[in-house]
Amino acid sequence: MTTDNNRVLIVGSVGLDAVSTPHGSVDRVLGGAASYSSVAASFFAPVSMVGVVGRDFPPENVALFESRGIDLSALEVREGETFFWAGEYGEDPNQAITHATDLNVFADFRPVLPASHCKLPYVFLANIDPELQLEVLDQMESPKFVAADTMNFWITGKKEQLLKVLGRVTLALMNDAEARMLTGRKLLIDAAEDILALGPRYVLVKKGEHGALLFSKDSLFAAPSFPIRKLVDPTGAGDSFAGALVGYLASTDDVSEPNIRMAIIYGTTVASFDVEDFSLRRLAALTREQIEERFGVLRSITAF
Ligand code: AMP
Repeated sequence: MTTDNNRVLIVGSVGLDAVSTPHGSVDRVLGGAASYSSVAASFFAPVSMVGVVGRDFPPENVALFESRGIDLSALEVREGETFFWAGEYGEDPNQAITHATDLNVFADFRPVLPASHCKLPYVFLANIDPELQLEVLDQMESPKFVAADTMNFWITGKKEQLLKVLGRVTLALMNDAEARMLTGRKLLIDAAEDILALGPRYVLVKKGEHGALLFSKDSLFAAPSFPIRKLVDPTGAGDSFAGALVGYLASTDDVSEPNIRMAIIYGTTVASFDVEDFSLRRLAALTREQIEERFGVLRSITAF
């Protein structure tokens, strides 16, 4: 049985994306780091989402969150436009080219959490302004596990605040290029060491189709990615990965390293579905049974 002891609080962008890939393009479709991660986490644990959208946010997107049982009591609707991101992928799915980042209603959003949210044990600070991530963290009473993600936009624009966030989390997530950018180190093992020195217990470096590496002061775990045949849109892979990871940890209420390794494989599995279609279309049609089946395949191809 799941209770609030297993509930995950997720803050991050909720928005509309315009995305172009070699498989086509879409405009003003559901996107945002908190959207992907909350839906991914909801396959494992109950989720409360924190964020803001404008009055232009299409009701079918809200309906999708509701169909996944996501608590939207801290998702504000404000006058103004919803967060908008426009991006493009060329032949390299690991390289997003950003054409526009319009924060819109997120620009002056100050989250005030309901008392019940402040007590939640599992927190995922999905990609958004690190100042906002800090404001959420300040309101949490004593979370058991906090993970945080970020991207180049904030490493360049708000590095000082980002370093403060990283000093207060259990697990810091970023992709390989961002880990190098943040630390100025070429080798990932050196970059990870520098990030660990900032305070997190774990650093998880995502390498797109090449998997992910989990570093702690005295251990290393290497996870492959799932070898998919259909890569339509890489958007949200990192967020789906992280959401499923934190959701799995919350559902098992076990933050030991062996269980974090399991959670990483669940994250890998859910991310592999996300990229099979644009926006959250594949996640919207996904079932826990499909996740378990692919999880089994990943287990068999990594056993030796
Ligand atoms: P991912 O592909 O997992 O790195 O995340 C993609 C999502 O991040 C997209 O749906 C965007 O809406 C969102 N996004 C892009 N840039 C930013 C940003 N600067 N801050 C927060 N979210 C962003």
